[in-house]
Amino acid sequence: MRNAAVTGHPIGHSKSPLIHGYWLKQHGIEGSYIAQDVPPETAESFYSALAEHGLVGCNVTIPNKEHAYKSAEKLDDAAKMIGAVNTLWLDDEGVLNGSNTDGLGFLGNLDQMLPNWDNNGNKAVVLGAGGASRAIIWALLSRGYTEVYIANRTLEKAQKLADQFGPNTIAIEWDSLGEKLGEADFLVNTTSLGMSGQPELNIDLDNLSKSAVVTDIVYSPLQTKLLRDAAQRGNSTVDGLGMLLHQAVPGFEKWFGVRPEVTDELREMILREMGLT
Ligand code: NAP
Repeated sequence: MRNAAVTGHPIGHSKSPLIHGYWLKQHGIEGSYIAQDVPPETAESFYSALAEHGLVGCNVTIPNKEHAYKSAEKLDDAAKMIGAVNTLWLDDEGVLNGSNTDGLGFLGNLDQMLPNWDNNGNKAVVLGAGGASRAIIWALLSRGYTEVYIANRTLEKAQKLADQFGPNTIAIEWDSLGEKLGEADFLVNTTSLGMSGQPELNIDLDNLSKSAVVTDIVYSPLQTKLLRDAAQRGNSTVDGLGMLLHQAVPGFEKWFGVRPEVTDELREMILREMGLT
């Protein structure tokens, strides 16, 4: 029997056991996926001894993603560029591999909900420069966006990301957002603004082309103000729940040998569990 887990501290709120539990049942796999509390002080020793904990791999969430990055013996390109690991697995030789699947989850969601979303042009505006924005920038660059503008309340953080990701990324002042939106083919919110319990994201979309695609990685509420405003003026929009579901796909495949699908049924089940229906 193969066992995997989601690890972090605290861990009770994680939706990952529901997602992986659904797929284990759907595919009739004799495996398990549990939530395991791993405090940051013990994280590196825990990840370096996964097999001794009876695990073939695990997901990693707040606050352990940098610890997992340090523990992994082998990192893929996404993990290296994002600088954090959310998925670990032991390969056939027992080597601990690390990946960051948030970017792939972001792309998987858009590909499923709005096929050809990326055939729209090559200019993107990314709101935010926190942990999640790194995965989104990596993802957009991987799809050939050549001008990725990063706007953040704290400009220095946006500038640091632009320096790291290279000449196709440009940090901009939050105040110049309106002007840049006039050129954008794609707009994504990666700030925590708009999330339940947080202030709303209030930006002026007047200059945004009606053909631009708008998405939000905040998924609670599902329809954020940004998505509602964009849809009302005719832009195509995609909500952020699918990113959460799709980021889980690569881990399940590594641990259990089957590539699972993000179905409407899974989405409905998670929405019900989160009280979002
Ligand atoms: P983070 O590292 O804490 O970054 C937060 C970002 O929001 C920063 O850019 C921060 O700006 C900005 N921000 C926060 N409060 C603000 C305010 N009052 N005014 C202006 N900007 C503000 O968080 P994260 O890990 O990147 O996560 C961000 C959001 O993405 C969360 O809501 C999270 O739930 C969501 N998320 C969703 C998925 C998914 O699967 N859909 C995956 C990951 C994250 P400063 O730099 O100026 O502080």
